[in-house]
Amino acid sequence: MKLSSYEDLRSKLLSHEVTCEEVVRFYLKRIDDYRDDNIYITVFYEHALERARSLDQKLKAGSHLGKLFGMPMAIKDNIALKGERLTCASKILENYESVFDATSVIRLEEEDAIFLGKTNMDEFAMGSSNENSAYGNVPNPFDKKRVPGGSSGGSAAAVANDLAMVALGSDTGGSVRQPAGFCNIVGLKPTYGRISRYGLVAFASSFDQIGVLSRNCDDAALVLGVMAGKDGRDATSSCHVVPEYYSEMANVSVEGLKIGVPKEYFPESLNPDVASIVKGKLFELRDQGAELVEITLPDSKYAIAAYYILVTAEASSNLARFDGARYGYRSQNAGDLAGMYVNSRTEGFGREVKRRIMLGTYVLSAGYYDTYYKKAQQVRRVFQERYREALEKVDVIAGPTSPFPPFGIGDKTGDPLEMYLADVFTVPASIVGMPAISVPLGFDSSSLPVGMHLICNFFEEGKLLGIARRMQPSL
Ligand code: GLN
Repeated sequence: MKLSSYEDLRSKLLSHEVTCEEVVRFYLKRIDDYRDDNIYITVFYEHALERARSLDQKLKAGSHLGKLFGMPMAIKDNIALKGERLTCASKILENYESVFDATSVIRLEEEDAIFLGKTNMDEFAMGSSNENSAYGNVPNPFDKKRVPGGSSGGSAAAVANDLAMVALGSDTGGSVRQPAGFCNIVGLKPTYGRISRYGLVAFASSFDQIGVLSRNCDDAALVLGVMAGKDGRDATSSCHVVPEYYSEMANVSVEGLKIGVPKEYFPESLNPDVASIVKGKLFELRDQGAELVEITLPDSKYAIAAYYILVTAEASSNLARFDGARYGYRSQNAGDLAGMYVNSRTEGFGREVKRRIMLGTYVLSAGYYDTYYKKAQQVRRVFQERYREALEKVDVIAGPTSPFPPFGIGDKTGDPLEMYLADVFTVPASIVGMPAISVPLGFDSSSLPVGMHLICNFFEEGKLLGIARRMQPSL
């Protein structure tokens, strides 16, 4: 079944060329074929088929059909679906079942989407390669010896391998955009507060945002439009009006578009293939009438330093709730209460999660708070001001999504700092809270995907998607 977009699927469903049940069977079969790739942690075989049959009935009955009627979707396993496992790819939540639905999930369901299952990820969304999962590595769809990126590696591989049409991910510092770049698909992180975080397991609450992974910008716009908007259950969700994303996208023209090109995004150390593909695309747009404006931004290395202080601080607090008493795994080897807490956490969390809890506790402790945490907050403010100023002069900021193409499985696991640098271009947008996207540009000389990263001003998702759509080569 070759489907170019959701619109294509919808017209096939409405003209009775295919049924929802056939579509779901097709995807479930593919999911089975790829079982060794660990892309899904849980597959909803029965539920997805039941849901498809009931949607087929709905169509037969001539009832109103939702905007996402029959769209087969995957959900990252840190987003809650009532009655289903919610593992966050951690041993500590191995058998934990959610008792409620995330707001984003409710909104998708109301528009008749179908959920196929929950996808693999780095444990608690901490990582850039999906190697920090308690449920196995996920190979890159274009080279099995390489990583798919992370932390939404399962969601990215699901869409790229056609095991779901669209997938939800979460992005704290790049976890939707970087894997999208590594898997040759579109990955959108909206403005902080655009989508409710209710039901998204918190990693760093002032950064976390649910994002969309899809094959094209139209599908991303559609799904974003359904999920976006104020939610009474998340005080940080924005009441900024949700626009018609399609018409905003259509209003974008390349002619006269001011593209900010920061020299900080093209350092000497940038992989030469990545540099030439990204620059090549920018020159192409210039030839079509866009203006390339050289801009300067604070060095991204400060963003990485500030990011890893702030997110570990928030994570150390957010993950305190996993104590063996309230959720999931409880150690059987404890003699007293304190021992139960310590052993449950020691046995339940993986290495990277423990490292971050320790780092976060350290930067928040008396005597170090001012030196690290407070300083990092100040750096965050400087970035916010500088990005705001830059976007007064240009429409969009462009650069590569990742400084290098997908790397080998195991290549960076021994050196956490090396791994952290994978996010050097995606972290700034998370620090400032602006919307950003990775759009696939094609392949380098070793046939590995290369992505372009774009940032727009707050709540300009429509414009961002419109610009991205003009950059994506036709599929
Ligand atoms: N790779 C980054 C980290 O490890 C980003 C993770 C994310 O966006 N969830 O923190």
